[in-house]
Amino acid sequence: PVAVVGSFNQDFVWHVERFNAPGETQLGRFDTGPGGKGSNQAIACARLGAPTRFVAALGDDAIAAQARALFDAEGIDARIETHAQAMSGSAAILIDASAQNMIVVGAGANALLSSAHVEAERAAIESAAVLLTQHEVNPDATRRALEIAGAAGVLRIHNPAPTVVPAAAAPLDQVDVLTPNESEFADLLRAHAGLSLAADGLHALGDDDLHALCLRLPPPRIVLTLGARGAFVSDAGTGDAPAGRLRVPARPVVARDTTGAGDAFNAGLAVALAEGQPLDHAVHFATRVAALQVQREGAARGMPSRSEVEREWGI
Ligand code: ADP
Repeated sequence: PVAVVGSFNQDFVWHVERFNAPGETQLGRFDTGPGGKGSNQAIACARLGAPTRFVAALGDDAIAAQARALFDAEGIDARIETHAQAMSGSAAILIDASAQNMIVVGAGANALLSSAHVEAERAAIESAAVLLTQHEVNPDATRRALEIAGAAGVLRIHNPAPTVVPAAAAPLDQVDVLTPNESEFADLLRAHAGLSLAADGLHALGDDDLHALCLRLPPPRIVLTLGARGAFVSDAGTGDAPAGRLRVPARPVVARDTTGAGDAFNAGLAVALAEGQPLDHAVHFATRVAALQVQREGAARGMPSRSEVEREWGI
């Protein structure tokens, strides 16, 4: 099984020609659907066939009722903490004609997920093969979950993806496999190693330089995602396993909507590692899951099932 401790946000999306000027009102095409990094990743894990537990916090509102129904429909074992005094998490998203976005996240109940709730659900974490966490809930709760997993020998994958927790507060000492994208990697290097690197400066770096940068961060294994350029894997070497590095190219597909690509990738990685696959195989599997997801609209909505992955890639 995979345990995910993380966020749920209801996404409210408006498609507009161009972004508003201050004080301006305009019409846009509206859409709404489930989002939040924790929920997206839990849904993807469940669709990929892993028994999935999801530890999260919601308000006591209509969004929460919809979210619970969604988790049921996806076959997710949801362990929800209810905060009646808070709103469920939400995100207001504007997308303009050139597909740029502007986003405001209301963390709401996500910021209130408590260490006590995580503690109460510790059996769900301890009996999992993999724990998957992100940066969108109360960092104390995330840290507690990672500590529980570490003590129980559960593999810990941490996706340091925004928005609630600053890079400096990332629980990097409690992570087995860290999965930043380029800008998150640059933020972490600045906060934890005092290195100032523009995210787009990473493009020019060769494998030796990237590997050396990865070794500046505490987690022994780092899977750096590079968008359409794929992923870079760095292993600091532990015990009898030698240090190593590897580049895995993205699958050549025509992307329609890359929202949630990282979530699909992290879920693929978690499910493959939970099944006991070695890291390089797991990264290839994650790459294939993400390649299917980016060809579809929507984050959670576009997550592929296991049979779709097998049919498409013959694995
Ligand atoms: P995030 O969505 O977190 O910013 P990335 O953009 O790095 O993360 O994407 C995560 C993974 O999704 C990549 O490593 C790659 O495997 C896959 N991916 C992203 N964009 C594309 C694309 N245009 N074509 C194929 N695969 C993609």
